[in-house]
Amino acid sequence: MSEQQEKRINPFFLPYGTPHDTPPFDRIRLEDYEEAFMEGIRRDNEQVDKTINNPAKPTFDNTIINKDDDTEGYYDLLDRVSTVFFNLLSAETNDEMDALAQKMQPILTQHANDVRLNEKLFERVRYVHRHHRKLTPEEKMLLDNCYDGFVRSGALLDKAGKDRLRQLTEEASILSLQFSQNLLKENKAYTLHITDAAQLDGLPQTAIEAAAEEARQREMDGWLFTLDFPSYSPFMTYSTQRELRREMYMAKNTECIHDNENNNLEICKRLINLRREIAQLLGFKTYADYVLKNRMAGNVRSVYKLLNDLIKAYKPAAKKEMLDVEPWDMAFYSHKLKLRKYNIDAEMLRPYFQLEKVIDGVFGLANRLYGITFKENKDIPVYHPDVKAYEVFDRDGSYLAVFYADFHPRKGKQGGAWMTQYQGQCIDKKGKNVRPHVSVVMNLTKPTPEKPALLTLGEVETFLHEFGHSLHGMFANTRFESLSGTNVWWDFVELPSQFMENYAVEKEFLRTFAFHYQTGEPLPDELIRRIVRSRNFMAATACLRQVSLGLLDMAYYTKKDAFTEDIIPFEKKAWKKAILGKQLPDTCMTVQFSHIMAGGYAAGYYSYKWAEVLDADAFAVFKKHGIFDQQTAQRFRDCILSKGGTENPMVLYKRFRGGEPTIDALLKRNGIKKR
Ligand SMILES: [Zn+2]
Repeated sequence: MSEQQEKRINPFFLPYGTPHDTPPFDRIRLEDYEEAFMEGIRRDNEQVDKTINNPAKPTFDNTIINKDDDTEGYYDLLDRVSTVFFNLLSAETNDEMDALAQKMQPILTQHANDVRLNEKLFERVRYVHRHHRKLTPEEKMLLDNCYDGFVRSGALLDKAGKDRLRQLTEEASILSLQFSQNLLKENKAYTLHITDAAQLDGLPQTAIEAAAEEARQREMDGWLFTLDFPSYSPFMTYSTQRELRREMYMAKNTECIHDNENNNLEICKRLINLRREIAQLLGFKTYADYVLKNRMAGNVRSVYKLLNDLIKAYKPAAKKEMLDVEPWDMAFYSHKLKLRKYNIDAEMLRPYFQLEKVIDGVFGLANRLYGITFKENKDIPVYHPDVKAYEVFDRDGSYLAVFYADFHPRKGKQGGAWMTQYQGQCIDKKGKNVRPHVSVVMNLTKPTPEKPALLTLGEVETFLHEFGHSLHGMFANTRFESLSGTNVWWDFVELPSQFMENYAVEKEFLRTFAFHYQTGEPLPDELIRRIVRSRNFMAATACLRQVSLGLLDMAYYTKKDAFTEDIIPFEKKAWKKAILGKQLPDTCMTVQFSHIMAGGYAAGYYSYKWAEVLDADAFAVFKKHGIFDQQTAQRFRDCILSKGGTENPMVLYKRFRGGEPTIDALLKRNGIKKR
């Protein structure tokens, strides 16, 4: 195609010709995506054909690497276009992009299935898995992942087994979707309509305005509150109208159990059974066994050990924290109590957290710990004028990575915050270390004509969190891209991110950047003290809440036999150990527990607590040697951040820590255990 000079060439088909070969966002047109997707699929299939028709005996090099690392002068086109397209679909989308995603998604799923279910390809992979030469740990991990991927897709099953697996998987995906849609419909079906302004008593102005807007949109007068979190949560926290709080609470906690078409009770039962059947078809005793095989926790026993240890440690403190109130009074009174005890409010801190200074603080932290520096480069193309692109340099001045930062909300950008990559790190066939391009995308408070962007402490933590993920990406130093950076087992991926959040309440760190945006005065000591103390407010109660959800999740997915019980009483029994207050007999969590029913957290909800244990345990090492200690930081980088998923995370962690993690540091951080 290089002969046709006159014709415009799809930029995905050529070297980008930009600094560090970053995506030429300014040159990509909508129609380029589809063309590149289709050509990418074609090349992928060609590659598979080449592999399976290779007359030579299957080896690691001619079978496993070929799929993963064929970067030499021949881009992995499908990967290249998918990365840009799907990143932008979250960060900067529009109707045309959304429509194209709808069109491409089934084609891409079909393609992935075709590869995964290719029997000839699996025969070769299986041969290598049995007869391979001596491999490095990283090669072994890649091989195991590859083999395991085929096996989990049913490659070892006979025809009937394969058909059954496909049926079960399809039914589960349809039911998950229905679960979510029912929940959404129930959320929408209920509204609290207020027409008497006196009933808004206690609510913050932002919540009142949002409710007025909600009413306007439905052409109603007054104020409309819904069960969506941004409406529900402030209402439960601030409204002084106890009866209305009760009404809202009961509406929320009885969703999807009414006798109507949105009922999720039978769907949950079926989903639990489907997942158990899938696991058993693939040779596992339970769904939890199937999931935990590829987790740092490793097995059901260690998950229960964590949950039970936490119950034992936190229960006495939770009893002391207990407010003797009805469930619908909980958020309201605990907020009041917090205000009285610590006299601290999120708004008070904003003037000290001007975005530009926070950026300096965060980059400065990375510099103190790891010696890296950030330099904005305006020649690197960006997908929106708000996005900043930096070149990152290592301690010795060598180029390390490209770092994009996209801070503020806008139309076409999803809510929340995340880290992603436009290029993963790997070592190509010529031995060149291809450095990563990472991106953090957030929705932080915007500047106004009068004021710069002033963040809350929560937003500073969000930035630190996503920045932690991006360090995991930027320090990556592995051979294979699929094992690089944040490509690690599920319950390990939040360690680098949550680890960074620890700094948010460290005085030594706050001192480096938290200055009043008008007066320049540093964040007062007294305020810092109150922030630190208020952090552990009701910590034991919050912990037991997470543990109770973890117990519920495990109770469903450790079932060996058909699940036939009634969901509501089963739920009350399953998490009883972690519940202190009384349980209302008519409410139900399971039917709205999207994480474990419709999301990817089935048999994985414990991960939240698991990651917290890890981040506290790792940060304890820094607390011991100094939170800016460079030697400790170097070890963290060498043992964990640079290693990605090349080895079992427990092995990596122990190499850094000198032993397995314990819950001690978390208990100390939460004030449960004195030093
Ligand atoms: Zn995260």
